[in-house]
Amino acid sequence: MDCLFCKIIAGEIPSTKVFEDEKILAFRDINPQAPSHILVIPKEHIGGVDELNENNSAVVAHIFAKIAEIAKNEGLENGYRVVSNVGEDGGQTVRHLHFHIIGGAKLNTQMA
Ligand code: AMP
Ligand code: ZN
Repeated sequence: MDCLFCKIIAGEIPSTKVFEDEKILAFRDINPQAPSHILVIPKEHIGGVDELNENNSAVVAHIFAKIAEIAKNEGLENGYRVVSNVGEDGGQTVRHLHFHIIGGAKLNTQMA
């Protein structure tokens, strides 16, 4: 499958890993929008939030449990934002489910 994040998981494209276990990978965004910008992805290919269902969504709970840990390790005690862009209108550019962890500075509160 021609998926950038599946290639990162396979090690075919390099990434700066922040956390990894058997189910998920977290790595630094190549074009950071804030001092800390980490992407958290499932190792299973899921296209986006719009492809989640009762059968494949357990990994999202696992991702969120680890997001709390990753943010703490990153020193984001003062808060951060978790974002998942969905589809064309949502501005999703990589069709592999991912959650952005953005922080390290006071963020713009504009939502759209
Ligand atoms: P989205 O636009 O929500 O689909 O987010 C995709 C994110 O992937 C963007 O923030 C990109 O900067 C990031 N990105 C694209 N290619 C790479 C890469 N090779 N390594 C790390 N992050 C990447
Ligand atoms: Zn993929």
